[in-house]
Amino acid sequence: MLAEMGFRLPVAASVVAEAEVVEHAEPEPIVVAPPPPVVVRVAASVAPASFAGLGLPALREAVSACRACGLCEQRRNAVFGNGALEQVQWLVVTDPPDESDDASGEASGGEAGRLLDRMLLAVGQRRGGDATSAFVTPIVKCRPPRGRAPQPPELEACEAVLAAQIELLRPRLVLALGLQAARRLTGLAEPLGRLRGRVHRWRGLPVVVSYHPAYLLRSTADKAGAWDDLCLARRTMQTS
Ligand code: SF4
Repeated sequence: MLAEMGFRLPVAASVVAEAEVVEHAEPEPIVVAPPPPVVVRVAASVAPASFAGLGLPALREAVSACRACGLCEQRRNAVFGNGALEQVQWLVVTDPPDESDDASGEASGGEAGRLLDRMLLAVGQRRGGDATSAFVTPIVKCRPPRGRAPQPPELEACEAVLAAQIELLRPRLVLALGLQAARRLTGLAEPLGRLRGRVHRWRGLPVVVSYHPAYLLRSTADKAGAWDDLCLARRTMQTS
């Protein structure tokens, strides 16, 4: 199963590392030039004042039409998420939608999505097919322009959607994948490496942090660390 995920365990890792080592930095944004100023527009809310109390189909509709923050202006599709709708065990919250998610309206597709599905399967979680148990959704449902990080007012506006999803799906654990999701759900502005390896809490749920699968595609040496994170999440769920 680990081989299927592309993981190499420690003994092999030390041997393979010389041949396959991938130079990578801590998964922090690397700024090589001053970025253009970010203009954050908090739209006059024309979304429901609260998403609470809606059923899943109504919530999905409300999110597609949501204009509660400025991210609505350049999105092609809001990305609600997909996966198990009943007996949900893991809620996987990722960094914001990428360009292809924005185009398709689906969460975590493409090669990174396939890696994510293999990672989940390795710990007995599925978001597709039979016996689904995981739901995958981004931390904000609309793609920030040019892939920039979502700003605090945008994260705050969209947290109402995530809260409503949790109320409906009732997961047992949250897996936060990527720096932006991890920082928002832990409330800590620390590097991802410092947020991994421990169990945080958010809205009464245990939260485990790991790398975003798109990052793992570029930085294969960190797959072993991702496996440790998945094992921590599995142990946490078994004991909570
Ligand atoms: S990011 Fe969230 S709060 Fe902002 S418009 Fe999209 S769905 Fe609404």
